[in-house]
Amino acid sequence: MNVGGVMMGGGAPIVVQSMTNTDTANAKSTAEQVAALAQAGSEVVRITVNTEEAAQAIPEVKERLDKLNCHVPLVGDFHYNGHLLLTKYPSCAMMLDKYRINPGNVGFKEKRDTQFETMVETAIKYAKPVRIGVNWGSLDQSVMARLMDVNAKRERPLDARFVMHEALVTSALESAEAARKIGLGQDKIILSCKVSSVQDLVAVYRTLAERCDYALHLGLTEAGMGSKGIVASSAALGILLQEGIGDTIRISLTPEPGGDRTREVIVGQEILQSMGLRSFLPQIAACPGCGRTTSTVFQELARDIQTYVRDKMPQWGKDYIGVEDMNVAVMGCIVNGPGESKHANIGISLPGTGEQPTAPVFIDGKKEMTLRGPHLADEFKGIVDKYVETRYPRRPA
Ligand code: SF4
Repeated sequence: MNVGGVMMGGGAPIVVQSMTNTDTANAKSTAEQVAALAQAGSEVVRITVNTEEAAQAIPEVKERLDKLNCHVPLVGDFHYNGHLLLTKYPSCAMMLDKYRINPGNVGFKEKRDTQFETMVETAIKYAKPVRIGVNWGSLDQSVMARLMDVNAKRERPLDARFVMHEALVTSALESAEAARKIGLGQDKIILSCKVSSVQDLVAVYRTLAERCDYALHLGLTEAGMGSKGIVASSAALGILLQEGIGDTIRISLTPEPGGDRTREVIVGQEILQSMGLRSFLPQIAACPGCGRTTSTVFQELARDIQTYVRDKMPQWGKDYIGVEDMNVAVMGCIVNGPGESKHANIGISLPGTGEQPTAPVFIDGKKEMTLRGPHLADEFKGIVDKYVETRYPRRPA
C-alpha cells in the first residue's frame, strides 16, 4: 500500500506513525506540530478532521507544511460526519493521503451503510487508502449485540471477553468486506482493532492476522502516561511484532501537561530498533551506574551524548549512508567499561570512584586516546562527529 509515497505492508519496513493533538482548524499550530512529529521521525501523521473548519483548514495545513519543506503523508481521522466533510470539501478529500474510518462511529441503522459507502466511494474516487480502525471504546454495537445473541444460544456460552474479541475482529473484517464490495482494492485497506489491555490486544491481533491478509496497524489504545504507557505498549507490540504481525505502529502516549508530543514517535522507533526490526538512529549503550560511580559526570555524559546524537541525526541521516547503525557506549567505570566500549563503534569508559581521573576512548575496538579534564564531553562529541564523517560514505548529491 502506498500512503502518500510511504509504503506500508507487503514486506515494506514497519512504519512509525503518530497523531497530532492540536485543533486542526488552527492550521498554524497543526502544521507546526505535524512538522515537529515528522522531524522526530514520524513517517505518517494523523490529524483529526472533526468539523467543517477542520476540513477547510487542510489546504492551509498542507501549504504551511510545504513552506516548512515537510512532505509527510497526512491521514484524516473521521468520526460521525466524515461522509459529509469528505463530500462537501473536495480539497480536503484530495489533499489527505489516507482516511481513517471507525466502523463504530459511522452512523446508525440504515444510515450507517450509506454513510460508510460515501466515504469509501470518495476514497476510490481520489485513489486513497483507508484504515478501518475499530476501537473497543467505540465498537459497533450492532455487531456486539449480534455476537452476544449467538453466544447466549451456545450450549456453553463463551466468556464475555472472548465475545468482545470476536466482535472487534468481526467488525473490522465485515467492514473491509463491505469496502471491497463497493470497489476498494485489497491493497487500499489497512485494519486495526485497538484495545487498552496488553493481553486483549495480543489475542485480538493474533486472530486478525490468522483470518486476513490485510496490512495491519498496531497500537495499544489509551496506553497511558509516562512509563506505564511506554511499558504496556512495548510489551504488547513486542509480542506481536516478534510474531511478524504488524505493518505500522502508533504509540498512544498521554503527554504530561505541557509535555512533548514527539515522545510517542521516539518510543515507537525505539521499540522497532531495540527489536532489530529497523534502524533509525545510533544507539547509546550506557551502564546503569552503581556505587562505583559517585559523581554525576557519567549520567550527564550519557544524557548529553544521547541528546547530541538525536539532534544531529536528521542531518547525518541526509548526508551519510548507514550512520543509523552506529553504536556508542558510555560506561561508568573500569569493571565493564573497556569491555563494552570495545564492542561499540565508539566507547568511552569514565573513571569510577578511586580510579585514575582519565577516560580511555575506544574506536572500532581499539583504545585510541585518553580524555581528561573539564572539556571531556565536548571533546568526546567531536570524536563522534569525526567518526561519522570518516567512517560512513557520503550520500550522492
Ligand atoms: S560499568 Fe562500573 S559503574 Fe557501570 S554499572 Fe558496571 S560496575 Fe557500575
